[in-house]
Amino acid sequence: MADSLFIVMVGAPGAGKGTQADLISARLGLPKIASGDLFRDNLQRQTELGQLAKAYMDRGELVPDGVTVRMVAERLSRPDCTQGAVLDGFPRNIAQAQALEAILQERGEAVRLVPYIRVSEAELLDRLSGRWMCRAAQHAYHERHNPPKVPGVCDLDGSPLYQRDDDRPETVRRRIQVYLEQTAPLLDYYRQRGLLVEINGEQPIEKVYSEIVGYLAGYRHDLSEVAGRTRADA
Ligand code: ADP
Ligand code: AMP
Repeated sequence: MADSLFIVMVGAPGAGKGTQADLISARLGLPKIASGDLFRDNLQRQTELGQLAKAYMDRGELVPDGVTVRMVAERLSRPDCTQGAVLDGFPRNIAQAQALEAILQERGEAVRLVPYIRVSEAELLDRLSGRWMCRAAQHAYHERHNPPKVPGVCDLDGSPLYQRDDDRPETVRRRIQVYLEQTAPLLDYYRQRGLLVEINGEQPIEKVYSEIVGYLAGYRHDLSEVAGRTRADA
């Protein structure tokens, strides 16, 4: 459908992609599709894909493109994605970006906006070491920057919070390296297509969100009033 809205969040691990994707997805009524969440769900259900992915995730490496693309393509084919989706963590390299382009092209659709959340490496380490995720829906909290109202419990769904194994400093360092080598080339890829918008991620969550909403207002007119209000409040 021509007026569908596919958004791709890019940024290093810990930049705040998931946090913003949750807010945007709720605001636009579009599903959030996070490849990492899909792998963790497979892991929890002990599927074959989960077993395969675990070895890569534990090392902070990318899961091979073939299985990753198939998993995301299947998710995108579900009826809740006809109006669009907010993608978080996918694509993670140029080959995945090309695969996504082909999947959407077949439906007469395309990626419309790529918010790039820029955060320094020192800040990433701090964010990931203090991150707590909820079991039920992977909502992200931070022990200092974004604490839950009740310690250890998700504000949104009441499920228990946990720390990801791959948020340990040694794995985080490898994930950042993999990001720089394999994912950062996507910035130029999407910049050349006129889709990339750069956002300073070292601002409070609400400020990052209002900047993204400002860009989205160009696509969804029901957001222009919200964007105007959040800009005026800033
Ligand atoms: P990503 O999905 O990019 O890996 P998350 O959205 O999970 O990142 O955020 C990583 C951590 O940083 C979480 O603990 C989250 O609560 C926190 N966080 C997200 N955005 C901000 C922000 N703008 N300022 C401070 N902390 C943030
Ligand atoms: P994330 O939740 O996005 O931080 O991803 C956690 C881990 O899942 C990554 O370190 C990778 O091992 C794997 N993963 C998530 N998304 C992808 C992807 N698009 N391609 C390959 N591996 C991925």
